[in-house]
Amino acid sequence: MHAMSENSSKSQAVRGTQDLRGSMASAFRHIDSIASQLSELYRFEELKTPIFEHSEVFHRTLGETSDVVSKETYTFLDRGGDSLTLRPEGTAGAVRAFISNGWTQDLPCRFFYSGPMFRYERPQKGRYRQFHQIGVEALGLNDPSADVESLSLAHDLLLKLGLKNRFKLHINTLGDLESRQNYRKTLVDYFTQHKAKLSQDSLVRLEKNPLRILDSKDPGDREIIKNAPQFSSSLTPQASEFFQQVLSGLKSLEIEYHLDPLLVRGLDYYSHTVFEFITTDLGAQGALLAGGRYDGLVKLMGGGDVSGVGWAAGVERLALMIESQFASQQKPLVAVLAAEDSAINYCQKISHLVRSFGNPVELITSGNMGKKFKRADKIKSQFCVVIGSKEMSSKILTLKNMATGVQIEVGVEGLKKTLES
Ligand code: AMP
Repeated sequence: MHAMSENSSKSQAVRGTQDLRGSMASAFRHIDSIASQLSELYRFEELKTPIFEHSEVFHRTLGETSDVVSKETYTFLDRGGDSLTLRPEGTAGAVRAFISNGWTQDLPCRFFYSGPMFRYERPQKGRYRQFHQIGVEALGLNDPSADVESLSLAHDLLLKLGLKNRFKLHINTLGDLESRQNYRKTLVDYFTQHKAKLSQDSLVRLEKNPLRILDSKDPGDREIIKNAPQFSSSLTPQASEFFQQVLSGLKSLEIEYHLDPLLVRGLDYYSHTVFEFITTDLGAQGALLAGGRYDGLVKLMGGGDVSGVGWAAGVERLALMIESQFASQQKPLVAVLAAEDSAINYCQKISHLVRSFGNPVELITSGNMGKKFKRADKIKSQFCVVIGSKEMSSKILTLKNMATGVQIEVGVEGLKKTLES
């Protein structure tokens, strides 16, 4: 695709946004529908929050040093002078809704959401400025089985979408606060020794949040990160036990995983379990679904001491994975051709009848017969019915199977049976 300039004219879509039609739009709907059906089975209820929030909702919670907040938010002053931010992800809004509506009495709460997110990122295949996520959040569940359930739901979703053998689950633990404080000290010591070679961004992180250096994409940083001390050596016994229970839950469900000690999340509020389902089929944008436990977030946002665990998946990336194999589940497409204008009303009646059987119908009325047949070919209709005055008076229709060329004469009453056979 040809790259558009930042000053694209009014008639072009904004850079990093997409117009979706046909199979891509159907794939979106399919993903949404499978995800919401599965969520119900796991007792996650649908939650719809606004697509913009007061900027503090994201700035305070995602951490000022995270890339999402420091570089990627769409933040603006509204006409009343309030600073608002288009949501870059779903968790902060869900937690804000939980707190501001006082849903504490309903704990535990399990939410499923779906909708657009906005990040000012460098667009490429699988990465957009407006993209869509489906996600789940479980609030008020402290034990590792909640992590396992949420992972199991994610795993079921990918399998249900037909992605067996096309992804790998990477998992890690960020431990509890004490483990992280131990690790932070160890990391600061290590990176301080290599300060001279660190990127500018990572020098800032070294002051504010050294853990996030591990997430750096800078090639120079990556060299240093390779030999960084591993987190497992700083884990407290409790945090280690928590993680072992998550892993044993996965084993009992026969969900394969890959321990990835370098996996950290781009956002600052995670603790204990973090995970990503990764594919190699989409080039650089391999993360299909990512999440983890965020026990400190509700408190940080002014709510009670309520734990949380959840994940989000990128719908565009899932859609790219399934688009080629995504076949519409619909019944055969029927083209109804009016042989003359006086037959149009009757054609409308027959089209309506055939649609009531659940078959999609395109009524073709414009152009000469040659043009009408061309259209029937172009839309790849499986059956074609031509209706003129003869058919109107005899009530006998000729149904042509476009693949085999076989023509069957059938009465209006017999249409349904013929289309089903
Ligand atoms: P995150 O909220 O960054 O953990 O992202 C969760 C998932 O959302 C990722 O695994 C991707 O599938 C998807 N995602 C994140 N950012 C983008 C983007 N800019 N464009 C498309 N998908 C994205």
